[in-house]
Amino acid sequence: MTAAPILSVDDVQVAFPVGGLLARDAILGVAGVSFEVRPGETFALVGESGSGKTTLARAINGLQDISQGAITFEGVRIDGLGRARMKPLRRRMSMMFQDPVGSLSPRMTVGDLVTEPFRIHGHGGRNLRDEAVRLLNLVGLPADFAGRYPHQLSGGQARRVGVARAIALDPALIIADEPTAGLDVSVQGEVLNLLNELRERLGLAMVIITHNLHVVHHVADRMAVMYLGRFVEVGETGTVFAAPRHPYTAALLSANPEPDPDRARDRITLPAEVPSLMSRPSGCEFHTRCPWAQAKCAAMPPPAGDVSCHFPLSPGARPPPREDRP
Ligand code: SF4
Repeated sequence: MTAAPILSVDDVQVAFPVGGLLARDAILGVAGVSFEVRPGETFALVGESGSGKTTLARAINGLQDISQGAITFEGVRIDGLGRARMKPLRRRMSMMFQDPVGSLSPRMTVGDLVTEPFRIHGHGGRNLRDEAVRLLNLVGLPADFAGRYPHQLSGGQARRVGVARAIALDPALIIADEPTAGLDVSVQGEVLNLLNELRERLGLAMVIITHNLHVVHHVADRMAVMYLGRFVEVGETGTVFAAPRHPYTAALLSANPEPDPDRARDRITLPAEVPSLMSRPSGCEFHTRCPWAQAKCAAMPPPAGDVSCHFPLSPGARPPPREDRP
């Protein structure tokens, strides 16, 4: 039997007022997305900067109000709870922020940093020194790192400290925003292996937010590709990487360096800038950039589903090129 979802996001919108608080107009940073994450599963939100993925993650974590839809965590509706009522839930849902060193207070030792969640949420009589050693051990750092300060850490070590803080309170879900940003490629691999190992060992579910497709391939079971605040393609990571069906997904993957020359893809160059959220294109919102757009694409929004496209790609068969280009 499939386990019940630990997190359900149902038709969520996030609207930002335009022109001040009294303004009537709003832009949609997230425009109605739905997904579920089950225990032990990693779900990746992928997209270019400005696609809405970080806004969506902040909404899940209660740091951003939603304007429509519902967010349910461990069977409890959590949207609209407010920061105070979210606090106890943060024991079970922790957030790893993007900047590995900047997110750590420079005046605190590593020991204090990794045990800070206990001081915020209560430690139930635990010995914090022992907890620091246990957590450092879990993330592969020696016990004597407890006495170091953030400026004495490498980028990879700082990220491990961030992971230790995130798992301190035994969460069921971790939301990780760009978990390898700013790290060398070899260190990225170490951090991703650590996340995979902890997920298996602790039974964690994860939501990973990234524009880095290498990260997605390495850790995610399922993925959603975001464009202008909507999901354009959702699916099993292996399936999407093997045969992307939405033209935007295909373009992102074609720009991803492929180490195996036999599997290298033809590069798909996207011709235009990303449209502004203030003036969303008609019909399929990707039609201004899509190499395969047809007249129907500008006229009608594509049907909802795992692939939001009138003419999804299929392996070995490409639709005709768009009608307004040679
Ligand atoms: Fe391209 Fe048309 Fe599909 Fe949109 S609906 S992605 S414009 S082919």
